[in-house]
Amino acid sequence: MNNGDLQRLHDSQMREFELARRNFDGLRQVVYRDIDFGAFSVRVQYNPARMLSTNAKVDRQTLQSRPCFLCGEHLPEGQRGIAYDGGYHIFVNPYPIFPRHFTVPADAHIPQRIDAHIGTLLRLASDFTDYVVFYNGPECGASAPDHFHFQMVPRQSMPLEQDIRREELRRTVVRKEGCSVSVLENYLREVVVLRVSRWQDLSEWFVQVRDGVGRLVSFQEEPMMNVLAWFEDGWWTLCVFPRKLRRPRQFFAEGEEKILFSPGCVDMAGVIVAPRKEDFDRYSVSLLTDLFGQVSATPDVRDALVQELEKISL
Ligand SMILES: [Zn+2]
Repeated sequence: MNNGDLQRLHDSQMREFELARRNFDGLRQVVYRDIDFGAFSVRVQYNPARMLSTNAKVDRQTLQSRPCFLCGEHLPEGQRGIAYDGGYHIFVNPYPIFPRHFTVPADAHIPQRIDAHIGTLLRLASDFTDYVVFYNGPECGASAPDHFHFQMVPRQSMPLEQDIRREELRRTVVRKEGCSVSVLENYLREVVVLRVSRWQDLSEWFVQVRDGVGRLVSFQEEPMMNVLAWFEDGWWTLCVFPRKLRRPRQFFAEGEEKILFSPGCVDMAGVIVAPRKEDFDRYSVSLLTDLFGQVSATPDVRDALVQELEKISL
């Protein structure tokens, strides 16, 4: 499988899948605004069609009483996918953030837990090199935490890819033959960047990071993380954002203070999706500093993770 298979799926779905065609057409209307933080910037996207996902109810009762939209028997009319890796399907996401946007659910209705799927994440990245593959933890932005899924969006859609190359932000903490670990400093949110050329190493490192996050921050379903991966010139890059909260207090506020900020990978990677105009207009350096400060793990968690990674010999 390769990039061309995704392009063909996208093209045929634009002919056959009315809901998706309407929402991809609607993407032409989205408006962007850049917010400058000096060493990097964050983009805010005004996208009213994302209201459903941002505001998704994810409590147990709601999940149990709704038909699961990622299960094969409840697909919307016109939606078709392609089988992948003997247990997944790739679908066009009918509520896109970018001009190409795919969802990759497991065929089985199994919960959002990355453990058994990390190999598939890396395979998706190396099969579809034009795309960033990402995973939102069940308490970190997944709007279907009861049904396992990845997502894919085009490379270079999010500032993160450029930001990890910036010398003034990046501190490399481990450098070995065929692998490195870096962190970004003074970046609003904490992120650990793993780069490897042998994917076996990455799975081992990833397990250490996940377990480290689990030890350092309390959680209910799974150590709280957003994970993004891509593949280029024989190297996988895996970015892990350790989290401590699903949504900031303003999400639950009433009236003026309310803001629909329910961040997943795309937001952590520097594109804030605002389904309401009033939120889009309000985002600022100080507000984003406050919001990310509430949902991201703290720098001391990041440093503890790094210390553990330094001990591992591959
Ligand atoms: Zn399901």
